[in-house]
Amino acid sequence: MISVGGTVQGVGFRPYVHRLAIARNLSGFVRNDTAGLTIDVQGDTRALEDFLSALVDHPPPTAVVQRVNTSRAPVRPYRGFQITESADPGLSPRTNVSPDIAVCDECLGELFDPHNRRHRYPFINCTHCGPRLTIIDGVPYDRGLTTMRAFEMCRACRREYENPADRRFHAQPVACAECGPSVKLVDASGCERKGDPMAAAARALAEGHIVAVKGLGGYHLACDAMSCTAIKRLRYRKAREAKPLAVMVPDIAALRALCVVTPPEEALLLSRQRPIVLLQKRGDLDAETASAVHALAPGNPCLGIMLAYTPLHHLLLAECGAPLVMTSGNISDEPIAFEDSDAFDRLGGIADFFLTHDRPIAERCDDSVMRVIVGKLTMLRRSRGFVPSPIDVGIRFPAPVLAVGGQLKNTFCCARDSSAFLSQHIGDLDHSAARLSLANSVARFSSIVGVTPEVVAHDLHPRYASTEFALGIDGVDHIAVQHHHAHIASCMAEHGITDPVIGVAFDGTGYGTDGAIWGGEFLVVDQAGFRRAAHLGYVPMPGGEAAIRRPLRMAVSHLISAYGDDALSLPLELFGRAARNEVALVRQVTAKGFASPPTSSIGRLFDAVSALLGVRDDAQFEGQAAMELEAVADPRTRRLYEFGLSGLTTPPGPGAGGDASIASLAMPLKIDSAPLVRSVVDDILAGVDRRSISGAFHNAVADMILKVAGPLRAATGISKIALSGGVFQNALLTTRATHLLARSGFEVYTQRMVPCNDGGLSLGQAYVVALGNRAPSRTLETTAESCA
Ligand code: ZN
Ligand code: ZN
Ligand code: FE
Repeated sequence: MISVGGTVQGVGFRPYVHRLAIARNLSGFVRNDTAGLTIDVQGDTRALEDFLSALVDHPPPTAVVQRVNTSRAPVRPYRGFQITESADPGLSPRTNVSPDIAVCDECLGELFDPHNRRHRYPFINCTHCGPRLTIIDGVPYDRGLTTMRAFEMCRACRREYENPADRRFHAQPVACAECGPSVKLVDASGCERKGDPMAAAARALAEGHIVAVKGLGGYHLACDAMSCTAIKRLRYRKAREAKPLAVMVPDIAALRALCVVTPPEEALLLSRQRPIVLLQKRGDLDAETASAVHALAPGNPCLGIMLAYTPLHHLLLAECGAPLVMTSGNISDEPIAFEDSDAFDRLGGIADFFLTHDRPIAERCDDSVMRVIVGKLTMLRRSRGFVPSPIDVGIRFPAPVLAVGGQLKNTFCCARDSSAFLSQHIGDLDHSAARLSLANSVARFSSIVGVTPEVVAHDLHPRYASTEFALGIDGVDHIAVQHHHAHIASCMAEHGITDPVIGVAFDGTGYGTDGAIWGGEFLVVDQAGFRRAAHLGYVPMPGGEAAIRRPLRMAVSHLISAYGDDALSLPLELFGRAARNEVALVRQVTAKGFASPPTSSIGRLFDAVSALLGVRDDAQFEGQAAMELEAVADPRTRRLYEFGLSGLTTPPGPGAGGDASIASLAMPLKIDSAPLVRSVVDDILAGVDRRSISGAFHNAVADMILKVAGPLRAATGISKIALSGGVFQNALLTTRATHLLARSGFEVYTQRMVPCNDGGLSLGQAYVVALGNRAPSRTLETTAESCA
């Protein structure tokens, strides 16, 4: 008997095993079960060995074999080799469900082949491609437990499904125009349009209309990506003024017309996960294209692009002959619509038409988003194509764990054994729809991946919706994990690190153990917990959350912190752009500490500098001001600004040698941003170009990381350093910091396959449990010895 575990269902594994066995004249059976795959095989010893090595060394392309166990079994009178029915799904499932896979080349060839019986059939798929997670209702992966169960196979499809030599042998979503789902085009009033739905949808798009397109994991909103009018209309109706819109193209050639693409980016775009990839916009576009590309991602040097990944997309793009905007089917930041009735309700005011079909979507799943930073692939949103593939953290979880993540960009994580299953993107829990989605997805996802949680980890913030959800789960142990501790643990989990690390957690906001808003943190993290080793000095956040949307106010607050009341007499343009009384109001509330929580956030410092330079006073989405500050930075600038560091008796030298000792550190060290702010102001007043100022600011932050990490390494002996938190999505900063640290002998770890933003928090929360910290997260009051 052979038992195979990993991602082995829905990837053509059983037909593959069948072919291997038949070719070697072996008898027995293969079947899916809740543990993965069970094979009983008998025959010639050499043939058996050969069979086993083929199985282990050359599994099907989309399978991930994690475990193969073999045992002797009594000889049975098998007749040939069979694929048998799945065993009863009574046990908790231990197999890994495959993510959705982009349409394969063979299916694509058939799709456009007029002689093929599936010519232009939008749901063509095979064992190598097609929907998986988004059609699965339960495990094992069999048609009866997918949303395809409503479609009875026709004779032709059944013949393929039952033929071991066929590419569609036991392909659960197999279908054709005769028996499978079908597409229709419906207008906003619910009337179906006559004629070919693809051609009619393409016509509507060409006329500037907005079409909601039902895809794999939900509805997209599509419009002509080369029409500024259509883009403006979509932005207005969707209430998405400035946030970038993703574009879909049929092939790499179409993409090259808009963006510059490097070989690693091209490989990523063509991968079977087909994520959205952020690519550099071309600088030599004609005026008309340039203005459309600007409208798609204003103030951003990059454009998010993906290749068509379902047959339906390929047909639609072939009809259109132009790139299409393909943005999430939602209003603002709510979860994307995936159920038909909900889509009509919520998108009825946005879309003029719906290109829809009757294959239900079992689970919402957004597109994944990636970017190449420092030459390496970096995940910004891990969702379709990657979920629910597990992340092997290298150590065992002491019990099944559910970690519920943060408030924004929420994901959750189910963990068992040494596998962490990160959920798809749930979204911002400020929206009630997203909170509901969290509860529903947790129930469904945890059963699919076979985790019945005994420990529930959540953020320390008492008012995060995810925290409230976690605390509502009875009969489990609850663990609160501090936000930045989770960021660093997420990076450790991804790299399987169990040794102590110096963690640099730079982001916008996270609830600190002292109730302040943290976000510019140096932590020493070990198996027992974390110690706050250094942080940015506190600056008031005028009006709290409101300051996030108004970087200008954060700039005024930083000016007051740096200059006192003299700030107001500085001849800065910023004051002219402020609303009447706005500056006075900021001064008043910060002086009184009224509605102005103290923050050590470096994200807010980026905001402040962005506003000081006149790059952005108002932010329509989180991180916008910082993103635009990065975009204007001149990367050739070598200058940098100084900052202050207190708590250290010997000043940090370049590269920070081994002369500091723990006795010379008054933990936590405090980083004073006032000198930096004053240097920025001096340069502004001296008329220095803002591109150069932004460049020097980025250099200063990279330098700050090195100059603080140096003494911490000297004091603790730790030279592993983990960088995480949303600020490290900034490619310029991450590149600079990584180079500086590596040159000074640090082992630098950054997040790659898990987002460094709050989308990666849940993995970190779960990993804190695995690291052995089952007690509520705490700041260790101990000496450095416990961390070294
Ligand atoms: Zn295929
Ligand atoms: Zn059929
Ligand atoms: Fe964060």
